[in-house]
Amino acid sequence: MLELRPNCEACDRDLPPDSTEAMICSFECTFCASCAISRLAGRCPNCGGELLRRPRRPADSLARHPASTERMGRPSAGTTGGDEAGHDASA
Ligand SMILES: [Zn+2]
Ligand SMILES: [Zn+2]
Repeated sequence: MLELRPNCEACDRDLPPDSTEAMICSFECTFCASCAISRLAGRCPNCGGELLRRPRRPADSLARHPASTERMGRPSAGTTGGDEAGHDASA
């Protein structure tokens, strides 16, 4: 079962379970559509797998199987590879 993670790992944008913007890889690394497409070119930066649109879970199923609330991502910027810090597309 999908975790339905609540945010984009790259820009920390909220991705609610009914979002059409959520993209995931086979390991459920979760990104918003704009990061997945423009920043990551459709590939997961963690595992190299393809990022595809996350299916939405119907509301009645969500009630029985709630989405994850554990936010993923990098809490502290600039620890490794200074290349990525700085241009977070938080528009
Ligand atoms: Zn994002
Ligand atoms: Zn991945």
